[in-house]
Amino acid sequence: MLRDVFGYPSFRGLQKDAIDHLVGGGDALVLMPTGGGKSLVYQIPALVRGGLGVVVSPLIALMQDQVDALAELGVRAAYWNSTLSAREAYDVEQRMRRGDLDLVYVAPERLLGERFQGLLNECALALFAIDEAHCVSQWGHDFRPEYGQLGVLRDRFPAVPRVALTATADVPTRFEIAQRLLRAPRQFVASFDRPNIRYRIVEKRDARSQLLAFLRDEHTGDTGIVYCLSRKTVDEVSAWLAGHGLPALPYHAGLDAATRARHQARFLREDGCVMVATIAFGMGIDKPNVRFVAHLDMPRSIEGYYQETGRAGRDGLPSDAWMSYGLADVVQQRRLIALSDADEAHKRLSAAKLDAMLGLAEAVDCRRVRLLAYFDEASESCGNCDNCLQPPAQCDVTEDARKLMSCIFRCRQASGFGFAAGHVIDVLRGKRSEKVARFGHEDLSTFGIGADRTEAQWRLLLRQLIALDLVRVDHDRFNVLGLTAAARDVLRGERRLATREPEAPAPRRGGRVVAAVAEETPQEQALFERLRAWRAQAARQHAVPAYVVFHDQTLRAIAQARPDSMEALHAVSGVGAQKLANYGAELLMLLHSAEEA
Ligand code: ADP
Ligand code: ZN
Repeated sequence: MLRDVFGYPSFRGLQKDAIDHLVGGGDALVLMPTGGGKSLVYQIPALVRGGLGVVVSPLIALMQDQVDALAELGVRAAYWNSTLSAREAYDVEQRMRRGDLDLVYVAPERLLGERFQGLLNECALALFAIDEAHCVSQWGHDFRPEYGQLGVLRDRFPAVPRVALTATADVPTRFEIAQRLLRAPRQFVASFDRPNIRYRIVEKRDARSQLLAFLRDEHTGDTGIVYCLSRKTVDEVSAWLAGHGLPALPYHAGLDAATRARHQARFLREDGCVMVATIAFGMGIDKPNVRFVAHLDMPRSIEGYYQETGRAGRDGLPSDAWMSYGLADVVQQRRLIALSDADEAHKRLSAAKLDAMLGLAEAVDCRRVRLLAYFDEASESCGNCDNCLQPPAQCDVTEDARKLMSCIFRCRQASGFGFAAGHVIDVLRGKRSEKVARFGHEDLSTFGIGADRTEAQWRLLLRQLIALDLVRVDHDRFNVLGLTAAARDVLRGERRLATREPEAPAPRRGGRVVAAVAEETPQEQALFERLRAWRAQAARQHAVPAYVVFHDQTLRAIAQARPDSMEALHAVSGVGAQKLANYGAELLMLLHSAEEA
């Protein structure tokens, strides 16, 4: 089935075990990261067992694409949701009754309705698959009450196996899913690691220009997402990128529904779109060839960062998670927490989550180790993050930190109130500004003791001290700086501080990122581009997204293998029987003409 229908030579990770278990009639809870290959885990057992597989999913907007993709593989699939006309719904029902469907996708509230429940009694059922199963958790951020009621399936159809799938569930959530939806399930928990994603967090200088350089140097023509914190930034950045000739589109909750739908559709269907968005964009987006996710602003937690960056590289090919991070991010996020009207316990929790995220951003050791540790997973240095690839120089900054913190203290002591970063750094560097003169701060003992460092260096250190919670920013009073209790140990010389040295501008890496696959020759690269152009055309003809025709890695494999017969083409990973029938002849012709050229 894997070979013939889906065209893949081998299973990944836990797929085979989970599939065997389901084919045998057992219940299963499947936890795999985004892109791990959850769909096959229910699709193959449904086909093997025979009868109808019922897939419950909250993501109505994506059902069409899922069904289209299956149709391309020759699998008989349909969806049953509120977007169907009465006539279309009736057709689907008839096909279900006749046993003319392998899979039907349905939203939870529809599934629970009387009409659908009655219909299920008339069908031979292969299995139930409950996708995004973490939505059952009352404590989670995606809670959906209908999910709780899906337990009725267990009582009404005890003989039909059930599988619950999700990419994000901590241990208590896993327990909740098993309790409410399944019967004595076996758990299949894959690693959270996404080895093909390269994590990189850069010093924010001029974020937009840094982003543009990143896109131009490493991701020309690639699809990706740029996350910004505010709608205003989304509008500005997308306009700015478009002004520089990039196919950038904005997406946020302030745009009308039609515009959002249009931009999402373009992102899914076209190759090379750069979606500039707030976090309103992304849930359920399963475009496989998103080559990068960039953050212009720091997310407020590691969970958020993991979820957002996880949208890159679902196809397993090398992808980038890139973030620019600076002092303003720390200040901004602390401020949001301080100003929120949540209760104290909730604020403390938010602050702790932010601290973990800051720890990741300031880390001098492997980013992935930190990321996985956050999800209770132990690992070793990954070799595929910025800190592993170019270990940052560490330096002891205790003396400088003492100078900076004394200066904050002296300014406040002398004037009876605090000052913001700009003025403190002026005093430290011995700059005779108008403000320095007005407050007589050239007389302070700390005046000029930091003249040996640039303003940028002092700002970097200040950010680190804020991230370490040694210095606080008072947002209610002009962002003035103050010291925390923990600062005392450092001032007294009882605690030493080591941080990363400021980055030299990163060396340009040039070209597209294809590290994990074998080195590509220029000919293969050129052939890949031709195949990509062909695919765009084929996708338009079939009115499906490009990746539904073939994934990038399939096209690359074709470019490498240059098959010259139908059999040879069929042997390429990702080319199943149906696709061979649909596209085989065209592809061979294209390959042949490329050979001659
Ligand atoms: P998710 O777990 O996020 O739902 P998908 O089921 O969408 O992941 O799978 C991610 C990608 O990996 C898809 O493009 C899918 O076709 C591909 N894939 C899944 N299983 C395999 C496999 N055994 N071999 C090759 N590719 C696979
Ligand atoms: Zn690493």
